[in-house]
Amino acid sequence: MQLHKDCKRILYTKEQIAATVEALAERLNKDYAGKTVLMVCILKGASVFYCDLIRKLDFDVRLDFMSVSSYGNATASSGAVCIRKDLDISIKDMEVVVVEDIVDSGLTMSYLIDNLRARGPKSVNICTLMDKPSRRKAEVEVKYSGMEVPDAFVVGYGLDYAESYRNLPYIAELKEEMYK
Ligand code: 5GP
Repeated sequence: MQLHKDCKRILYTKEQIAATVEALAERLNKDYAGKTVLMVCILKGASVFYCDLIRKLDFDVRLDFMSVSSYGNATASSGAVCIRKDLDISIKDMEVVVVEDIVDSGLTMSYLIDNLRARGPKSVNICTLMDKPSRRKAEVEVKYSGMEVPDAFVVGYGLDYAESYRNLPYIAELKEEMYK
């Protein structure tokens, strides 16, 4: 597949992404064997990753979805988070895994994990496809992390810029002139 004209370079091909999803699923299958786990998809960015991931899990999986938005400019969050769509069910005494596309400053996940912990689950862990540890502002424990990405704005495989590029099968760095 040709690189989209708005992208600078491909960071991860669809084959590299598939191998990463496989490795994350293997770890989850080992850690949650025999358990019932609520897999929480953070819409919309994590949706493509989530659909690939859950089909590789072999424990008892329940699905739910949340939509959160963080206030900030187009490419960086401010830390103030608003829950636009909450979970449909109570997570009291449940094992919960939050499935995220990318942890950047950590502000969104830090807020969300505190919010979910207050609901009394048995456990809450984060599973993210990508992590940008160099940009961290809030301390957050990311138990399952697929790949570390450099400090660049990436799109594709569910991730957008102004709602575009989510359908790209690879993850690419967006050209700076697209958002600056
Ligand atoms: P944080 O609160 O950790 O700074 O930001 C988390 C959210 O910001 C992610 O869920 C994602 O929606 C968005 N985000 C952070 N970095 C990127 C990026 O490189 N590309 C895209 N498309 N979104 C990003």
